[in-house]
Amino acid sequence: MIQRPRGTRDFTPQEMETRRYLESLFRLVAETHGFREIATPIFEHAELFTLKSGPNILDEIYAFEDKGGRQIALRPELTAPAMRFFVNDLTNYPRPLKVFYFGQCFRYERPQSGRYREFFQFGAELIGAPNPESDAEVIGLAAAMITRSGLGNFSIRVGHIGILRSKLSEGGVKSESAPAILQKLDKKVYDEAVPLMQQAGMSDGAIEDVVALTKTIGGIDVLQSLTGEPRDYLMEVFQVLQSYGLKDVKVDLGVVRGLDYYTGIVFEVDAPMLGAEKQVCGGGSYSLTELFGGEKTFSTGFAIGFDRILLALEREGMKAPQKNVIAYVVPVSETMRLAAFKITADLRSNGISTDVDLMRRNLGKNFKYADAIGAKFVIIVGEKEAAQDSVTVRDLKTGEQRLVRRSDLSQVLKE
Ligand code: ATP
Ligand code: MG
Repeated sequence: MIQRPRGTRDFTPQEMETRRYLESLFRLVAETHGFREIATPIFEHAELFTLKSGPNILDEIYAFEDKGGRQIALRPELTAPAMRFFVNDLTNYPRPLKVFYFGQCFRYERPQSGRYREFFQFGAELIGAPNPESDAEVIGLAAAMITRSGLGNFSIRVGHIGILRSKLSEGGVKSESAPAILQKLDKKVYDEAVPLMQQAGMSDGAIEDVVALTKTIGGIDVLQSLTGEPRDYLMEVFQVLQSYGLKDVKVDLGVVRGLDYYTGIVFEVDAPMLGAEKQVCGGGSYSLTELFGGEKTFSTGFAIGFDRILLALEREGMKAPQKNVIAYVVPVSETMRLAAFKITADLRSNGISTDVDLMRRNLGKNFKYADAIGAKFVIIVGEKEAAQDSVTVRDLKTGEQRLVRRSDLSQVLKE
């Protein structure tokens, strides 16, 4: 037997129905918020991702040379492709440009629950509006999508990278030393972050302040004691969030998101029941366009880990509606078989999902099969009924049977 590659998954019909159900909910919410879908290729020039994240990213992604000698990478995320697309082709769209996307991403990670080598992201980018209200709009969309998914237990934490950055620079850290420190602070590995801050020339007191800052989490009152532009900006974001009715969003100054291109607000969503892989969404405001040859353009976006949301929903007992057929058509005898196909075609063209006996089974076995596939009704096509231009319709749940004229059949089933 040939196994699928490590870190990948196959999806059963039931799983696909659940996945498509969630996908369509997400799509609906994004459209309700005025975002429109885009799509970009699954593979890109590897350079797109090294420009965004540095050369080390190559160790974490699927990158290879194609037959034409080009360095290609399977996309590990969708923000860089979306911004490349924007710079190439979308700069003439009215601003802000609000887009969303859904698709698979590939990362060379150590697979575990909630962490795969092929996984799916549902994300959005609001391009070209550098204001607290545009940031709040994006956080609001992420919140609405996750709420609409039905997930009960999750928390949204919002911070501003500028607060930490200015604390570091006030402490004497040069801008080139900041990224390494921020990366360690992002992962909360203080035993590595502290020595880096010492090397960068920070005093013990300043280091203590930074550490305390990254542990600051709570309501907007935690901003009360702070001053400065980033703090005021964050305050405004929270005012808009409150107007949008989002009262449970927390301030968390420890949200760092390691990478350099984040410029302002940063946020994360956790589903605590997922344990170590609890982060189901990450986002923030950033500027990448100038890296890809465009004019500097501020954007805010996020990516939801679609698979993790599904895992969390599953743990909360979510059941998506399954798409079983409505009708299963059974000819009672050889002579009625072609009539059964006619009826099947008729129902299908009326939009009623219909299966028909393809195994030449007897009536009893056909009932068993209809039950197994979860059909709602069995349509029995018999000679006696045909003489009256009718069929027998049996409701599999109640066991009730009735004679229905063929011309009324679609209507009756729809009702
Ligand atoms: P993590 O710290 O969990 O590796 P990340 O910071 O790499 O996450 P992002 O790049 O911000 O994650 O991606 C956005 C979201 O995509 C994450 O919050 C997570 O829910 C999901 N995600 C990231 N990597 C994987 C993966 N390998 N498998 C499944 N989902 C993933
Ligand atoms: Mg990761």
